[in-house]
Amino acid sequence: MMARTVAGIRDRTLIVTLPGSPKGAKENLEAILPQLAHACQQAAGADSRTLHVGGTDKLEKEAGIKPRPTVEDTSVHQHHHHSHDHAYGGHSGPKAHTKPEERPVSNDPNAGPTKRHRESPYPMLAVEDALKLIAEHTPEPKAVKAAVNEGVVGTVLAEDVTARESVPAFRASIVDGYAIVASKHPMVPSTKGLFPVTGVSHAQAGAVAKLSIGEVARITTGAPLPPGATAVVMVEDTVLRSTTEDGQEEDEIEILTDAIKEGENVREVGSDVKAIDVVMKKGEGITAVGGEFGLLASVGTQEVSIFKRPLVGVLSTGDEIVPHDRPEDLRLGEVRDTNRPTLLIAVRGSGFDAVDLGIASDKPGALENTLRDALRQVDVVITSGGVSMGELDLLKPTIERSLGGTIHFGRVSMKPGKPTTFATVPVKPSDSSDRERKVIFSLPGNPASAVVTYHLFVLPALQKMAGFAQPWGLPKVKVVLDHEMKMDPLRTEYHRVIVSAREDGLLYATSTGFQRSSRIGSFKGANALLCLPTRPGMLAKGEKADALLMGRVVSLL
Ligand code: AMP
Ligand code: MG
Repeated sequence: MMARTVAGIRDRTLIVTLPGSPKGAKENLEAILPQLAHACQQAAGADSRTLHVGGTDKLEKEAGIKPRPTVEDTSVHQHHHHSHDHAYGGHSGPKAHTKPEERPVSNDPNAGPTKRHRESPYPMLAVEDALKLIAEHTPEPKAVKAAVNEGVVGTVLAEDVTARESVPAFRASIVDGYAIVASKHPMVPSTKGLFPVTGVSHAQAGAVAKLSIGEVARITTGAPLPPGATAVVMVEDTVLRSTTEDGQEEDEIEILTDAIKEGENVREVGSDVKAIDVVMKKGEGITAVGGEFGLLASVGTQEVSIFKRPLVGVLSTGDEIVPHDRPEDLRLGEVRDTNRPTLLIAVRGSGFDAVDLGIASDKPGALENTLRDALRQVDVVITSGGVSMGELDLLKPTIERSLGGTIHFGRVSMKPGKPTTFATVPVKPSDSSDRERKVIFSLPGNPASAVVTYHLFVLPALQKMAGFAQPWGLPKVKVVLDHEMKMDPLRTEYHRVIVSAREDGLLYATSTGFQRSSRIGSFKGANALLCLPTRPGMLAKGEKADALLMGRVVSLL
């Protein structure tokens, strides 16, 4: 029955490929049609034990095999009650079930170089429109619980945090000195004069003895005040008058001032943070500067709800690409892999985790398999190369045709970075049944283009997935041009510059030199991308433009 038919199951879809000749197709189709309903039920996951109760006889009867059916048989149609016949007026000819805009527009890799597009079929988008599509199609952040340790640095809170404890948790001394009973009350004597040292309070855990009017207790910075004490006099405002007989302890001190007020040099309970106060809000980030982490640590937060940081995989593509650290000299045509190590560093430098996916060759199957594996493992895949117009540029066809992904844009009006491609792919992770949307950024192969487009397009997506509030992307500043610069009349140019702060309070931009997209050296020392307007001619020295900061501003103060 299946002599020339190829059949298989993918997920829950039964796929049958019939032979090309009309006669063969008809014969094979006749053979399989009776079984189709049953096969579909099983492919859809029906319990086969239940289906098979009643044995072959029942199955054959249900399939209408006795008497032997033909395609025209009504018994076949019993099991084939889709709506085609009714809705589309019977066998009225082929009918497409997809709209033209839903079909792949990428090259068919099997068609060869003569059949490829000679101009990109993807519309040329403005950078802002490309960024809008990224904001729209990048998955929303996911909240997870995390212990408060170094692992939460760089993340964003998914829930408010309330203080579990007050800070300080007890009345604490701000100075080294003596705890005293100071008061405005007329019955309490002046704090000036001789006092017996009746106790000691060190900064340590444990009980502290009560203090009465007329007594003082030696106290260190941060130590708990004895019950009854109301203020602390600094050691500088006192003189030792007598010691115990062995000379080891203070017996009496003199306080030299009567100006000590109640509460002086005391940190009251909760005066920094009160228990149950909200110390941090949802959407706030925990930076490596330290303040937010310190706050969480100080109030005893054990666990926080944070947004999971996306895991990024970085892949280079191209048969000519060899590992950058291969010791042998290059052979003709070989190119050292510049993009993979550079992008891995850039991703990690932006505060995200990245894994190395290696180099994929320009063979359709190899690229597809690498991407499939990668999409199971990571949330975002960054590829470089293979998005130009050559017949071996396989990224777009592989994403669209093999992975069932959607290309949201495949061309951007910018310099460098025109062929930058952004796609999402539905992926069923092995450990869950829910389909997830994974993101692929296919960046151009030229190294400077790859790095520019990483900062411009990938970074905002990572920030969205990690729960950062808008605006996403690099911070924009106004800079003054240090020298004239040529503009591109059509495409927005992202010129690599060094931004420095000068005495006049302004930021200045200096070009890093020759800007060809293959020249990664144009990034050496660069801390910003200058956004040149699209106009013919030159932008004069002293004129202002926007710059996107990638690194720390150089101080020339
Ligand atoms: P493609 O888009 O694949 O045609 O690549 C455009 C240019 O970038 C070619 O000259 C490639 O050799 C080069 N290229 C692609 N990937 C890399 C890489 N990982 N490192 C350095 N150059 C690359
Ligand atoms: Mg290539």
